[in-house]
Order: sequence, then structure tokens, then C-alpha cells
Amino acid sequence: METIKNNLKIIKEKIKKATLKANRYPEEIKLVAVTKTATIEQIKEAISAGVKIIGENKVQEAKEKYHILSTDIEWHLVGHLQTNKVKYAIEIFDCIHSVDSIKLAEEIDKRSLQFGKTTNVLVEVNVSGEETKYGIKPEKVEPFLKETSEFSRIRVRGLMTIAPMAEDKEDVRPYFRKLRELSEEIKSKNLKNVKMDYLSMGMTEDFEVAIEEGANMIRIGRGIFGFH
Ligand SMILES: *Cc1c(COP(=O)(O)O)cnc(C)c1O
Repeated sequence: METIKNNLKIIKEKIKKATLKANRYPEEIKLVAVTKTATIEQIKEAISAGVKIIGENKVQEAKEKYHILSTDIEWHLVGHLQTNKVKYAIEIFDCIHSVDSIKLAEEIDKRSLQFGKTTNVLVEVNVSGEETKYGIKPEKVEPFLKETSEFSRIRVRGLMTIAPMAEDKEDVRPYFRKLRELSEEIKSKNLKNVKMDYLSMGMTEDFEVAIEEGANMIRIGRGIFGFH
């Protein structure tokens, strides 16, 4: 039962090391604990060990956990969102990391209005251009944001990406750097309803490189709930 607590300690030490290397502070980094392999007991253990943000891949699974675990934690959707699930997603999530189409943004806006909230979202960017990945192409992000900025019930808070698999951690660095540069470029345009507060990038295998390149939200699953 001590495993998760210990895993979290290891992750936090690595976060500290990576931030020091990049002349940043560990407090800048928000840790999203991604629960796709975890049981309720494990999630409870993570929460009691200090986890504040839970990351979910599927709306249905989040619905089941939400009622059991609904304490003062934040719920983030990190997995792909289908338009027909938006209605439920709105009721659960404080932030949706995976907005990648106008149709989806429009539905989030509509359902948020009905539910009486404004939803924080990140735009998922396919930096690597892999066909198997969700996300908007980097050069399409600015025109996309110009359209979504008209939706009053959506607050764009930043960008998210998933790096390609790589043997060598250094191979993913250019993708993280590119997302950071894109976010800086967008920030400088001061678009209506668009903030670039968060860069959600970095998972168990690559979060240290992501932090060195400017991530301030990292999404860790196996590093917390798995075994290494
Ligand atoms: C599973 C998942 C993660 C966590 O991945 P690990 O390699 O287990 O840390 C992060 N982000 C997304 C979108 C995921 O699907």
C-alpha cells in the first residue's frame, strides 16, 4: 500500500530536479494523476498522498468515480472527447485538455451555457503530425482560436500535446519546444477569450524533458499507479 505514496515521492523529486535544471520552481508544475489503470482504492491513496488533480481518459469511467471520490479535487479530461459525451463531461470536468475541433468546441459552449458554467479547455495540438494522433495542426491553431474565441462559455487556457513514442528522451524535445513556442506566439496576439496559462505536456516517460521545455502541467499515469 505504500507504493503509490512512494511513487509520488519519486515523481516529485524528479520534478524538482527538472525545474532546477531549467531555472524554474517546482511549485509552477501542476501534476495531473492519470487514473486509467487505477482502482478506486489506488486513487484514494493518491489523493491522501497529496494528489490534487485527477486526469481521466473516458467520460463514462469518470462518471462512475466522480460520485465516490468527489472531494475537493479537480477533474481533468485528458482523453479524446466525443461530441455525444459532452453533456456529461461538462458536469464533471474542471478542465478539458482535448479540444480539437470546432464542432466539439461548439458543443462544449452550448452545454456549458445550459449547465450554467464556463468551461476551461486546452487545445490539443498534433505537433508531430502523426496520423494516428488527435489534435490540430500547429499552423491551424491560431485560426481555430479566432473562431472559438466567439464562444462565450469556453475559456481557452492553453495547449496540450502528446509526444511521439521515443527510445531516447531527447528525441521528443523538439516537439515540446515547438508547442511552447506556439503558445508564446499565440500569447503575443492577445486573442479575445484566449489565455495561454497552461502547457500540458509530458507523461511518465518524458515529463522531465517537457518541464525543461516549459511544461507547467504534466500528466502522469504509470509513474504513479504503475510499477517501475
Ligand atoms: C495515459 C495518458 C497519460 C499518462 O500516461 P503515462 O505514460 O501512464 O504516464 C497522459 N496523457 C494522456 C492523454 C493519456 O492518455
